[in-house]
Amino acid sequence: MAKTISYITGSELLTLKERANVAIVDVRDDERSYDGHISGSLHFASDSFQDRIPNLVQAAKAKGKDTLVFHCALSQVRGPKCARRFADYLAERKEEAGIKNIMVLERGYNGWEASGKPVCRCTGATCKGGC
Ligand SMILES: [Zn+2]
Repeated sequence: MAKTISYITGSELLTLKERANVAIVDVRDDERSYDGHISGSLHFASDSFQDRIPNLVQAAKAKGKDTLVFHCALSQVRGPKCARRFADYLAERKEEAGIKNIMVLERGYNGWEASGKPVCRCTGATCKGGC
């Protein structure tokens, strides 16, 4: 049973991201390193996404995340595609992995930044959030 993918606006995400069960998954490639990112987001670049899906499942499980919000720069191609691949991966393995919601951020990172929402520019491999 394939999961459906829903869309979420930046304003909705701003509220939602404070919850402990929500993970933001940034699938941009190199842009993340120079454009900044949403605080606390995980980076799973689209070019290696397929191979790293098991890592993402593990990361979500380990941190008790049941809602994953995918985005790329505009959330038109890479974001929805990776969200779909992730949903298909779970469906093929008949594995729920505790994931209840798979979402895509409307307008992506560029829309988020353009509407003045907070961005983080830390350079660590893993964003610790809180900025
Ligand atoms: Zn950061």
